[in-house]
Amino acid sequence: MTETLRVTPDDAGPDADSYAELRARLFIPLGVAGVRASMGVFEDVIDGVNRLVTSLRPLGAEVMRFPPVLPRAMLEKSGYLRSFPHQLGCLCSLGGSEREIGLQVERFYAGEADWTDGLETGDLVLSPAACLPVYPLVAARGEVPETGLRFDVSGACFRREPSQEFGRLQSFRQREFVFVGAKEGAAAFRDEVLQLGQSMADALDLPHRVVSASDPFFGRASRVLALLQKQKTLKYELQVPLAGEDTWMACLSANYHEDHYGQTWDIRVDTGEVAHSACLGLGIDRLAIAAFIRHGAEPATWPASVRTRLGL
Ligand code: AMP
Ligand code: ZN
Repeated sequence: MTETLRVTPDDAGPDADSYAELRARLFIPLGVAGVRASMGVFEDVIDGVNRLVTSLRPLGAEVMRFPPVLPRAMLEKSGYLRSFPHQLGCLCSLGGSEREIGLQVERFYAGEADWTDGLETGDLVLSPAACLPVYPLVAARGEVPETGLRFDVSGACFRREPSQEFGRLQSFRQREFVFVGAKEGAAAFRDEVLQLGQSMADALDLPHRVVSASDPFFGRASRVLALLQKQKTLKYELQVPLAGEDTWMACLSANYHEDHYGQTWDIRVDTGEVAHSACLGLGIDRLAIAAFIRHGAEPATWPASVRTRLGL
């Protein structure tokens, strides 16, 4: 029952050979796939990527920073539970009286029972995407002006997709630019932020491609939903090449949600129409990893233009 925590090298994936040295310089594995501590040299670049993102923030965007947890009810209503239940993490804690909790813990250390038997489901989930809390917050404010509302949000995200891939984490950081407003405004915003995303890749001197993409929907309807999303070109990804044959890593996505969140949260534009929304989801860890892959392990030797844009 009491297991010794054994931290194994985080290097067993297909891209391990190509990036083993770099990974060892940037991260310390914590013994679970896709969960790592990062070194100061990596965090300095993360700070730089955040500065770059801030420099490209849409005019008038309201800044909000979210905690790594969300009310469970908010997530259920958002539709995320139906679309991606396989990636969700829910918070549990020990329930009962102090005496009951104490007994549960003591029985665990005595090797009699697992302490997790006493867990109770709480009212919080781990946030899977940084933009999810924006929509109910906008709904609570009342009608949205026709010109729309813009936001710059960020938060730590959790997705249960354990992997040894360099850039696939269970716990990672997202920054998002979000728009809520009229239909035309949302569609235009999505195209505008996709260009911003390309400017970011250019500022980091990253070779990249932009492709129409779909989300990893759950269950029987997943193929149809993914096909529809692609056909309607609701999602674009900016991907960077990795070592190996035709392997790409998505660093950001530009998404048009149509009126999904407008309908879900009953958000109205002051013209009376249901609000549409769009977002640019930036994988901050992946943008930093892509920069290291491209320019090497030592940011002091990176091109001057890249260092300047990152404020390094
Ligand atoms: P998505 O909403 O899935 O399009 O996510 C937006 C961006 O977040 C992606 O383009 C990635 O850069 C980043 N991201 C998503 N999932 C992960 C993950 N498991 N590990 C690291 N970054 C991720
Ligand atoms: Zn989003």
